[in-house]
Amino acid sequence: MTHDTNHAHKVLVINGGSSSFKYQVLDMGSERRLCQGLVERIGSPDSVLTHKRWPGTEREEKFVYKDDYSNHNAGMRAVASVLLDPARGGVIDSAADLTAVGHRVLLGGPEYTEVLVNDRVKDVIREYSPLGPLHNPANLTGIEVMEEIFPSLPNVAVFDTGFHTTMPDYAYTYAIPRQLAAKYRIRRYGFHGTSHRYISHEAAKLLGRPADQVNLITCHLGNGCSICAVRQGRSVDTSMGLTPLEGLVMGTRSGSIDPAILTYLMQREHYSGTDLNTLLNKQSGLRGLCGHNDMRDVEAARDAGDENAALAMNMFVYSLRKYIGSYFPVLGRVDGIVFTGGIGENAPEVRSRACADMDALGIRLDEDLNAGRVSQAKKISTADSSVQVFVIPTDEELEIARATLRVLDQASASQKAHA
Ligand code: ADP
Repeated sequence: MTHDTNHAHKVLVINGGSSSFKYQVLDMGSERRLCQGLVERIGSPDSVLTHKRWPGTEREEKFVYKDDYSNHNAGMRAVASVLLDPARGGVIDSAADLTAVGHRVLLGGPEYTEVLVNDRVKDVIREYSPLGPLHNPANLTGIEVMEEIFPSLPNVAVFDTGFHTTMPDYAYTYAIPRQLAAKYRIRRYGFHGTSHRYISHEAAKLLGRPADQVNLITCHLGNGCSICAVRQGRSVDTSMGLTPLEGLVMGTRSGSIDPAILTYLMQREHYSGTDLNTLLNKQSGLRGLCGHNDMRDVEAARDAGDENAALAMNMFVYSLRKYIGSYFPVLGRVDGIVFTGGIGENAPEVRSRACADMDALGIRLDEDLNAGRVSQAKKISTADSSVQVFVIPTDEELEIARATLRVLDQASASQKAHA
């Protein structure tokens, strides 16, 4: 299969969760999204498929299909029939209109970044399931169902950990006995890889330089938050670790804490592993500090005089500033800092406070440019700031579709080389 950039190729992107999945079809000639949708509450009687289509560039059409999607197979079959039916929101005439299916997969270990799916790849996704129990099995199901529904289409797995496989060993290794780490594959994997990769490439374009020549600090601040040190276009460190729990203070996750807190709580409260997982992943972070996990609610509560909310906000910003500062020596030279995700794109106060009083590091924000929400990529630093600061709305589906075509191109190039 060859990929001719002049020809409009459509790629179906699947982002699967345990009881839901999202999808998009993108026209890769123009990189335009043709439709997107979500199947929610799979397995429950009130499951629903919500589908949106953009026949022109502006006009949006919305379709809602309520049905009993008893499993992923039923949900994906429903999506396939919608995609193929012009009257119900369709965007393709037949499977042959699609070039491939690109799947977001959580964990592929150090082996894989983005790859054409075969049995070995499926085995690896399975092998890493204990480390991504909510996502990897669902991602694998998505692949297997697509193989059934569209047997003629190649499936490409794009791993959320993939961008971070370039970290050096001293950045990804934890200082625990090596044998134990090897036995259970314990190391830093990092997450949000497609987002960090996408925004670093877009930032390179704004800097007017090739991606492999720029050094960046990329901040993905959504419900989950992670930050990445990008040297010459490659991830060299990131704040999330073995799981998405490590690093920054997040909506409901604690981020990094003294690990001895866990053993202490086990002794005092007799917490089990499951209890601790729930505590640190779902009841901590902004929610644990002030009862709100949405940054908008934290800001509103703080403005209304809630001291816990003020502390939560201060801690969120402080943890972000510490990571930004720590990546300067990691990178040596920093060309730009990029903000993305629901908070990164929409919370000017967070961006402003994250970059305040950093003249010594060459960071100067233009508060007029920084004000308000940002819907298109833009620079928010002053003309004399030696580190440029950008807000770039992330687009993980587009990055997965780009990666899907890259993989197909590489596969066809290597086929030709062996012919
Ligand atoms: P996810 O990580 O699930 O993809 P998003 O990137 O959409 O999530 O980020 C969601 C978060 O973005 C919300 O929890 C909220 O805290 C934050 N957010 C969205 N809009 C605003 C806003 N206008 N001001 C501050 N925070 C916002």
